[in-house]
Amino acid sequence: MQTIAERLISAYGRIDQATASAHRPPKSVQLLAVSKTKPVSDIKLAYEAGQRSFGENYVQEGIDKIQQLQAYSDIEWHLIGPLQSNKTKVVAEHFHWVQSVDREKIARRLNDQRPSSLPPLQVCIQLNIDEEDSKAGILPVELPGLLDAITAMERLQLRGLMAIPKADAAPSAQAETLAQLAKLFAQYRTKLSNFDTLSVGMSGDMEEAIQHGSTMVRIGSAIFGSR
Ligand SMILES: *Cc1c(COP(=O)(O)O)cnc(C)c1O
Repeated sequence: MQTIAERLISAYGRIDQATASAHRPPKSVQLLAVSKTKPVSDIKLAYEAGQRSFGENYVQEGIDKIQQLQAYSDIEWHLIGPLQSNKTKVVAEHFHWVQSVDREKIARRLNDQRPSSLPPLQVCIQLNIDEEDSKAGILPVELPGLLDAITAMERLQLRGLMAIPKADAAPSAQAETLAQLAKLFAQYRTKLSNFDTLSVGMSGDMEEAIQHGSTMVRIGSAIFGSR
């Protein structure tokens, strides 16, 4: 059995290889370690192996871990799961990033509740790129409106787009989805400052995502084992 440190090295190796074969600059893709459902001791092992950014899906679980790991003050915490309006305050007070913003109401609450002692909250808009009924995220047609609303919010810094493409899509459909996402990202990247993050790709599809311009892959099971 491999250790977390070994699996982290393999994941970075896969990223480097995919980045090179896509003819993209070295180190242009970040790895977010997704530690949902895994114990704090696993996060410490990944930290000791050099990992500094972690993603959590569930608000309460994430807050508990952030509090237990307060001494690890250079960890960057990303919320990547659904966010209800009654939880925005604790999220605004504890996380560095929220990648799952998909409603103006949520964005406005995060903006109002971000403590003035902290830097602006870094956010991504979650897109429901395959337009699946069951999935969180806004539809591509709703993107311009939410983008305008968020860029006017002073306590939020809009960093880019996040998406979870359909897991079981055929390769050609998957490629089409990723290409559509890359096109939307490119369209706004030239217009907005600090809009530099396309968060797409997980343990099973990071190579394809990097091929299509992902700048941040969110990797859980390939590092921490299956859930
Ligand atoms: C769980 C999860 C991941 C990581 O998935 P793996 O397949 O374990 O790498 C990435 N993004 C989101 C939004 C998730 O919920």
